[in-house]
Amino acid sequence: MEADGQIAEKLLYCFVKVSIPMLNRSDNPDILACPFCKSQIDKPREIENGFGDTFTGGKCACGAIYIFDRSGHNLGEAYVDGLAYACDGDWDKAWGLIPDEDYEVRELSYDSMRNRFSRSQRKLTATFLFVLIKNAVA
Ligand SMILES: [Zn+2]
Repeated sequence: MEADGQIAEKLLYCFVKVSIPMLNRSDNPDILACPFCKSQIDKPREIENGFGDTFTGGKCACGAIYIFDRSGHNLGEAYVDGLAYACDGDWDKAWGLIPDEDYEVRELSYDSMRNRFSRSQRKLTATFLFVLIKNAVA
């Protein structure tokens, strides 16, 4: 009977070990939400940047746009694409924008294992770049 008890204890241990991290997941674990308005964003899709290239991203209902950089290597490029996209392809307008004054940017690391944003600020990790043009400019 002692052996059975040990097995039961092991099973319980496994159960606790597996289930507790799941219980600890924060409020909306499977929802990727816009950092500006907190609403759920659509899955990023391929979008033309106007120069024959495409980037992966989308637009939130609040007007914020997002770019998904799978590698985290091309944030500079993602930034430019995002700004232009936020200006409806108006590159002149995009170049003239002043950070913080005309638009706000949020960088969020993406945890592909859990399909959620993570707080870690590791470099070279899949990243979502959010850009919100402020009303005065739009
Ligand atoms: Zn939003």
